[in-house]
Amino acid sequence: MDESDILRIEHLCKSFGGIMAVQNVSYSMQSGEFSAIVGPNGAGKSTFFNLISGYHRADSGNIWYKKKNITKWPPYRIARLGIARCFQVSNIYPALTTYENIRQSVLAQQKRTLNFFTPAKRLAGKETSILLDIVGLSDNANIMAGNLSQGDKKILEIAMALGSKPELLYLDEPTAGMSAEETRKTMELVKDLNKQMDVTILFTEHDMSVVFGYAHRLTVLHQGTIIADGIPEEVRSDKMVQKIYLGEEE
Ligand code: ADP
Ligand code: MG
Repeated sequence: MDESDILRIEHLCKSFGGIMAVQNVSYSMQSGEFSAIVGPNGAGKSTFFNLISGYHRADSGNIWYKKKNITKWPPYRIARLGIARCFQVSNIYPALTTYENIRQSVLAQQKRTLNFFTPAKRLAGKETSILLDIVGLSDNANIMAGNLSQGDKKILEIAMALGSKPELLYLDEPTAGMSAEETRKTMELVKDLNKQMDVTILFTEHDMSVVFGYAHRLTVLHQGTIIADGIPEEVRSDKMVQKIYLGEEE
């Protein structure tokens, strides 16, 4: 094991009935990385994320976070280590305002970390305002989350994930269903989180063009296995990768 690995996955497998959604996947990441897992629909990306965040139990294989074997840990324990995730489908409270959604996530985190005497509610207000500002949602603070645009809903979800002050953030297809402009805005935000706030980022994406210009490293998943891994330029010119993506367009 490389001493500087933050995350290390070895020979991970998960089947659903006869479908091998994730097959013998080994992958590791270092602190500070901004990396993408790409692959066509059904490649196993969400299953992989569900395994490493504790939502699915692996059939076999191991997952280490900073040398802790977390393979069988439930989601809440994994989250406490400083790992946050956003789901492919938005997971916000539509009938609460943007502000209230973020405040909720900040309070949930503070319940775990503050002692009895700390004025938690006042602190939460301050932190919520800071998060609103970081993600650029201050102008929409009092809008019902359900009425936000598709792009802003995802940005809100990212802000909520930041409420736990994660070191590592998993984003499952963060730009799904977005316009080109929303996609750009979301990816710029994620880039800033990585660069300015030192959050290690792992995201999935089915559209390979979205990752160029953002992810420093690209790993291609196809039918549950990794078929390419490297810097984006390298992976884009890989024959097997081109074949899969061209095949998908037909
Ligand atoms: P991706 O996120 O890359 O589109 P998924 O991980 O969602 O791919 O799916 C990988 C494969 O596993 C697909 O064939 C899918 O139908 C199957 N699958 C995913 N989740 C389940 C589940 N809970 N039950 C049964 N099959 C599943
Ligand atoms: Mg998916």
